[in-house]
Amino acid sequence: MVEIECLACGKTVELPQFIDTDNYDGQVVCQECKSLLHVKLLKGKVHKYKIVENKFKDFNFTKLVMDLAEKQKQQEKEEQ
Ligand SMILES: [Zn+2]
Repeated sequence: MVEIECLACGKTVELPQFIDTDNYDGQVVCQECKSLLHVKLLKGKVHKYKIVENKFKDFNFTKLVMDLAEKQKQQEKEEQ
C-alpha cells in the first residue's frame, strides 16, 4: 500500500483503487483539502510528486489577508 502525504495540508492521500502503484504517472486529488497532486509511481514506490493546484494554500492565503486587514483596521482605530 503506497501512502502519499499531501504537499499542501500534510494529510495522507488515499490513492484510488484504479491506480496501478507499479506503474502510474498521473494526478491524484487530496481528499482533505482537494489539492491536485501529480504523482509518479514505480514498483510501489513514489518516484516523483509535485503539487499542481494548491487549494489549501489558497484558502489560508485569503484568511491571512483578511486577518491582516482586520488588524490594520484595529490599529488605525487605536491611533485615532
Ligand atoms: Zn491536502
